[in-house]
Amino acid sequence: MVPATILDQISERSTEGLALALASPDDGAVMEIKWCNKAFSKITGHMFEEVLGQRGTVLIGPDLEHGVHLFIIEKLMNWENFQSEAMNNRKCGASYFQRMTWTHLTDPATGDRWWLCSIIDLGSKAGGASHEGYAAETTNGLDDNGVLLSKFHSLELENKRLHALATSVAQDANEDALTGLSNRRHFEVEVKSWIKRLKEEEREFAVLYIDLDRFKFVNDTLGHEAGDSLLVSVADILRELTDEEDLIARLGGDEFAILRPLGDSALSISGLADEIVQRLQAPFFCDGKSTATSTSIGVAIAKATSQNPERIVANADEALYHAKSQGKGRWSFFTEEMHIKSVATKKLATDLFAACDREEFIPYFQPIVDAQTGELACAETLVRWAHPSRGILPPAAFLDTAEQVGILKRLDAIVFSGLKSAMAAFDEAGVRLPRAAINVSAARLMDPTFIHDIRSSGIDPNRLTIEILESVYLDRLGDLVQWTIGELDEIGVHIALDDFGTGHASISGLLDIKPSILKIDRSFIQPIVEDSSKHLLVSSIIGIGKTLGMHVVAEGVETEEHARVVSRLGCNYLQGYHFGRPMSAQDLIELMLETEGVLWPAAKANSQTFKAETMDRAG
Ligand code: C2E
Ligand code: CA
Ligand code: CA
Repeated sequence: MVPATILDQISERSTEGLALALASPDDGAVMEIKWCNKAFSKITGHMFEEVLGQRGTVLIGPDLEHGVHLFIIEKLMNWENFQSEAMNNRKCGASYFQRMTWTHLTDPATGDRWWLCSIIDLGSKAGGASHEGYAAETTNGLDDNGVLLSKFHSLELENKRLHALATSVAQDANEDALTGLSNRRHFEVEVKSWIKRLKEEEREFAVLYIDLDRFKFVNDTLGHEAGDSLLVSVADILRELTDEEDLIARLGGDEFAILRPLGDSALSISGLADEIVQRLQAPFFCDGKSTATSTSIGVAIAKATSQNPERIVANADEALYHAKSQGKGRWSFFTEEMHIKSVATKKLATDLFAACDREEFIPYFQPIVDAQTGELACAETLVRWAHPSRGILPPAAFLDTAEQVGILKRLDAIVFSGLKSAMAAFDEAGVRLPRAAINVSAARLMDPTFIHDIRSSGIDPNRLTIEILESVYLDRLGDLVQWTIGELDEIGVHIALDDFGTGHASISGLLDIKPSILKIDRSFIQPIVEDSSKHLLVSSIIGIGKTLGMHVVAEGVETEEHARVVSRLGCNYLQGYHFGRPMSAQDLIELMLETEGVLWPAAKANSQTFKAETMDRAG
């Protein structure tokens, strides 16, 4: 080990000029000199204080050959050790022949990269320049001009080659390999420079954010090669529909973007969006198979008056989301209202996750009344969000978002466990609740643990009805759903088809699912009093249900008149505000105690008069 006191003397005594420079990790040619010894100052003429913080360029004098200069830069850039011998200048301008050697060092502690530069003064009369990689044997100057010239030529060639390589590397870094369009990185750089131009020269522009609607489906059904070839075709179509001035990029996956200068009229933007949607609607052919595709686009523009042009890409993305939510295969233009709405939806989504964790969802109950006796036949469980600051919220305030963020299943499970405690409360109060109905999402029906959850819930399956939306069962009656429904039937759970009449269920579909209950949607019930033509419609729905052996519930019974008419048409059960709005379990228990279990006192009288009238007519 050499003592530090000896090492310290190197700086003072060495006749070789030494300097240390800290380099940028990305580019070895970018550096800052941090230290030099006495000999270095003596040879170059730069004092320690002057050279501190300077870049390596202070060492390049006017007499240094351009070729050598280029050579030095290339080697530094690429972190290659090297040596050069050439004419250079001291600070005062006097020229001298020097040998410069560069060696790179790495600090193992920090990973910082340094250059050690050594300079030796070879006097003023040496023959000419030479420069070599470090490993090569060094010569003390070259006398032979021919050799020198050919060295310069090869250097020139090497330099050109490097230049070409650098350009192609830069291009690769900007290009999407599959489609040859710009990649996300390049797109982002361009957007930034367009924002700058907008601010400086008021050059306005638009961004179109494009997303294929069924790409995953194509990939899954036709394979990845077909997926790739679809992306290439899309890129070709986008090229065809755009101008020279537009920038087209593939941002990743099936997402593309176009940046287009905003001309005199926004028509060129909407026209382009229209054309893309139209062109990408045509079926896509691959290996003799065809598949339907469609595209959604979000459009945003950055105007000179825009408050926050930096948001343009995020805005186009929000508009895209809007286009998707409006049914896909279309384009939407970003508006401020959309932004406000999307901020609110995002907040709602976050709040919903927290609400799930805190189990803030509670079941409310709406009575379903037996049309013959007026007694409580069932209570429909309807979710409410007991929001910590906004009070009790109805499903319309959160159900769609809950579905979009994928927590409907969790929510249904929370409501289900709430139902269990509520049923226990009814039993404890001595109030007879023959059945409870719950609404389940399609996702819950496709969940194989659903049956297990019901079996292990402790709720008697013979007191349970599952309501399935007609639309849900129409779209998604897969094997798993069919199995679940079969199992439910097996253990005694009733199946009710909800909102019947709105989803156009076919009769054969009805036979597949064999619900024991049909719930006629309230839109058919409500006009029934004013419009007697609706009687026919409702009685034919009831007819279908009865023929298939089902019981029929009328929803949305709001008045005594409604109740009378629908029960006379043959509905078995009635549900609606007339008998009670959805309420907490405790409120329903109290209502039942007050009414002694009869929620529609006129039921018996009504059905008796009805029977008498029918007999009269028959007689
Ligand atoms: P739904 O299953 O058709 O429930 C009936 C809706 O009609 C309830 O709205 C109820 O308050 C309302 N309603 C009842 N009687 C009347 C009436 O006489 N007149 C009028 N105008 N409306 C009446 P709610 O509670 O807002 O529920 C809306 C929908 O949310 C439900 O429609 C159901 O599809 C869904 N939902 C409710 N709870 C849950 C749940 O726990 N899970 C799932 N997945 N969906 C639920
Ligand atoms: Ca329902
Ligand atoms: Ca309903």
